Amino acid sequence: MDNNDFKLPTIKETLKKNNIKINKSLGQNFLFDLNLTDKIVKNSEPICPTVIEIGPGPGGLTRSILKKKPNVLYTIDKDKQSEKMLIDVKKIYKNSLIIITGDALHYPIWELGVSPRQIIANLPYNIGTKMLTLWLKHIQHFDLLTLMFQKEVADRIIAKPGSKNYGRLSILTNWLTKSKKLFDIPSNAFTPKPKVTSSVIQLKPLEKPLYDVSFESIEKITQMAFSQRRKMLKTSLKSINGEKMLKELDISPNLRPENLSIIDFCKIAKISDEK
Ligand code: SAH
Repeated sequence: MDNNDFKLPTIKETLKKNNIKINKSLGQNFLFDLNLTDKIVKNSEPICPTVIEIGPGPGGLTRSILKKKPNVLYTIDKDKQSEKMLIDVKKIYKNSLIIITGDALHYPIWELGVSPRQIIANLPYNIGTKMLTLWLKHIQHFDLLTLMFQKEVADRIIAKPGSKNYGRLSILTNWLTKSKKLFDIPSNAFTPKPKVTSSVIQLKPLEKPLYDVSFESIEKITQMAFSQRRKMLKTSLKSINGEKMLKELDISPNLRPENLSIIDFCKIAKISDEK
């Protein structure tokens, strides 16, 4: 335990003291156990000079990050109540904590601070994949992302070709990063307790994408292919004359999308761009 922990109220006391009303529509499920938040941060070392935390809420994870002394930690929460709960922490880390109240979905977080830059966040379940997709578009600005998702979503992000979870999200993520799961967190670690298990995953951006193709076209092709994942590719890609393209690439048009590698999808995206 850090000395500063003794000066701060517990997370539970912080909620009580500030008379906090949990806002379910903002996906608020808080972690009270600082050993757990310490574990998430320990797995995110070495800590970059710039750290960005989305959705700090009452600030458990925030405290664990600050103990590792980044030059600056930017926190962004949509709920103004979070700012109130972080006031005591801010007193201790005056110069290194910058609290922003705002919607992270509409905030260019990749412009905050200087490189190297990392994200550490326990994301709200309902908009986790939207946020991830946005950050993947700007992946060159980040050096490490440690993110908590609902377990089912985490499984889709790290899925390999041929598995039932493989799809748009795994392709976009693993085209640009090396992904791995760190550990699961049971629902009873949160207050209020959610219905689902969570998983912490880590994404390490690749030096360059696996294959040179635009984000938009790979997003479009994977969306088309996986919106009908049980159909053969020649059917789901019919509107863009998929059968001819697939034959040109020596990929069987009778395959289903889960049987194609990431590179295969990149090649299809590239060739469809050129047509
Ligand atoms: N990190 C904290 C809280 C996680 S709950 C902990 O682990 O205890 C998710 C947090 O994300 C909530 O505080 C919620 O207010 C915030 N949030 C929800 N939607 C958001 C958005 N669009 N932008 C920024 N923060 C958001």
